[in-house]
Amino acid sequence: MALNENWFTEICAEGGSAFSLELKDKIHEERTPFQLLEIYETRHFGTLMTLDGLIMLTDRDNFIYHEMITHPALFSHPDPKRVLIIGGGDCGSLREVLKHGGVELAEQVEIDEQVTRAAEKYFPELCESNNDPRARFRFTDGIRWVAAADPASYDVIIIDSTDPIGPAAGLFSEPFYGACRRALTAEGILMAQSESPLFHLNILKRMHAAMRETGFHDITTLHFPQCSYPSGWWSTTMACKHATPQGLRQTAARQRPFSTRYYNAAVHAAAAVLPQSIAEALAKQ
Ligand code: SAM
Repeated sequence: MALNENWFTEICAEGGSAFSLELKDKIHEERTPFQLLEIYETRHFGTLMTLDGLIMLTDRDNFIYHEMITHPALFSHPDPKRVLIIGGGDCGSLREVLKHGGVELAEQVEIDEQVTRAAEKYFPELCESNNDPRARFRFTDGIRWVAAADPASYDVIIIDSTDPIGPAAGLFSEPFYGACRRALTAEGILMAQSESPLFHLNILKRMHAAMRETGFHDITTLHFPQCSYPSGWWSTTMACKHATPQGLRQTAARQRPFSTRYYNAAVHAAAAVLPQSIAEALAKQ
């Protein structure tokens, strides 16, 4: 079918592929100090946010990503109280983190305040916990924030970033992971979005190596479908500060007192089982 101006298309050069969404309208366009921010109304995926022409989220499928970048870490840490989110300006991860009653602080450090302002206006359901007294918003560079953080000040750090280009490039680096490790408490867990296992296996391999080099243990990649991201197959990767046996808190995950649409204890365990070629690629060299 021929595509025209009624379609948004994201080309993924490294995958030699493209993904398109049929549009109703463009409803917002803004050049922020950091990136081009656009919001569209689509025909079948609800509202769409793009940054520099790349899909950040749609109404229809963001729940998978947001649940899989938060709950696996929070149900693996024995008692997460202080959570730092780097990036995540759409506030979807923040909302999931705040579903955990034991969390006392959820601090979101987003470089681009306009992303959050746009989310408040166009994705109000993702921002429904923004007034929770446990939420804190910092609009600054996450790399600088973590470098200046007190040692052992967070139980969980979630890196909900854009792709490893531009301001997010440093968020995939060894020095940054080292700073995160310092900022984590003894039982601390780092969680990061880790791109597509099909198109970006080299990025995943580099992330594993960098996390290992900086002293992280139990580096676990979870994979899940995400139809609006390149290849439709995405991943998050978590790692523990120390080699303490943690693992999924099965009972807590099974009896969670809040609703989810994708996450459950069985999905958590299954997502960490890697297909053969990915497991081989990520095995310790
Ligand atoms: N995971 C989603 C994806 O891959 O499409 C991205 C969701 S979220 C909107 C990503 C956010 O990370 C963006 O709002 C961007 O401004 C933010 N970001 C990028 N680099 C950053 C940095 N160095 N510090 C803090 N936030 C950053």
